[in-house]
Amino acid sequence: MLLLPEGSVISASSGTAALIGSMLAVAGRAVEQRPLALMPAYTFVATAVAAQQCGYHPFLADINPVSWTLDPERLAAELDRSILERCGIAVPVAPLGRPVPQAPWLEFQRKTGIPVVIDGAASFEGVFQTPEQFLGEIPVAMSFHATKALATGEGGCVALGTPRLAVSVTRSLNFGFHEARESTSPSINGKMSEYHAAVGLAELDGWTEKQTTLRAVATEYRHQLFSAGLSKYFYFAPDVSSNYALCHCASPDQALRVQAALQRSRIDYRLWYGKGLQHHAYYADLEHESLVVTHDLAPRLLGLPMSMDLTESAITGIVAALSTGLSES
Ligand SMILES: *Cc1c(COP(=O)(O)O)cnc(C)c1O
Repeated sequence: MLLLPEGSVISASSGTAALIGSMLAVAGRAVEQRPLALMPAYTFVATAVAAQQCGYHPFLADINPVSWTLDPERLAAELDRSILERCGIAVPVAPLGRPVPQAPWLEFQRKTGIPVVIDGAASFEGVFQTPEQFLGEIPVAMSFHATKALATGEGGCVALGTPRLAVSVTRSLNFGFHEARESTSPSINGKMSEYHAAVGLAELDGWTEKQTTLRAVATEYRHQLFSAGLSKYFYFAPDVSSNYALCHCASPDQALRVQAALQRSRIDYRLWYGKGLQHHAYYADLEHESLVVTHDLAPRLLGLPMSMDLTESAITGIVAALSTGLSES
C-alpha cells in the first residue's frame, strides 16, 4: 500500500512513543549544553510530553500564519542565537494533519546543526499521498489514535524515507535491543502490541471505504455551507486530514459567538490544540518567543463534529448553528 522499502515504517505503541523513539534515535537524551527542544506553541501536549521524556525543556516558537506551523527559514535566520545554540532538537508539527515538507527542514538541520524530528501525528494521508516530498532523512512520527483518520485505538509509527535510521529507531522503541538481547542505546518500551496491530490490519482492510466515507461527509458539509454562503470559513480534506472539519473564524469575538451558538444547539466542538501549550497549567512557565500568531489563530480555529456516520440532517443542524454564530455581530 505505501510502496516504501522494507523497514521504512516502524510501528509504535502510540504517536507519543513514536516521537520519543525518533528523538532518542536522532538526538539521544538532552545534554547540559543543549537542553532545549524547539517546538511550536500551537500543538497537542504530546509534543512537549515526548521531549520532556527525553530530558529536553520545550522552547515554544511561534507559527507561520499561513502554514500554521514553524517556519524553518525564519527560525534559522531570526531566532536569538543564545536560544538556537541551546537547542538539542527541533520538532516541527504537522498541524491538523497538514504534512511538513522535508526539504526546508533538512536545510535547517544543515545550517544550524540541530537534529530534527517531525511530529506528523495526524498527517498519515498527506504524507503517503506524496511520500517523495514528505518522507526522507528526517523521521516522521505518526499517531493511530482513535481521533486520527487511520486508527488502531492507541498506536503509531515512525516513517522513514531512507532505511538509514531504521535500526536506531527500532532499538529506541525496544529496550535498546537490536538482534541481541543487549541494550546498546537509550530506549523505552514503545512497541505496538499484537492486539493493536491486528486492529490496524482490519482498519487497513477498510481504509479506502473509511476515507471515501469521511470525504463524502466533508462534501455534504461543503454543499450545505456553500448554499448558506459560508464556504470561506471552512477547511476540510485534502487541505487538512479527513478526520477534521474546521471553522476558521474571522475574529476571536466571532469564534466566541460561534461557540455559543453551537452550545445552544447542544453541538460539541473542540479547539484541538487548546489556546497553545503555554495555556496549560503545567506548561505555563516554559521559555518562549513572542507568540502573536499562535495567540491570534488558536482561539479562532474550531474543530467541528466529523465522523463516518454523521448524517445529512445532523450536518443541517450544525450548519444552522454555524450560520447563526457567524452572522451575529
Ligand atoms: C495525536 C497527536 C499526538 C499524540 O499521539 P498519541 O497517539 O495520542 O500519543 C502528538 N502530536 C500531535 C500533534 C497530535 O495531534
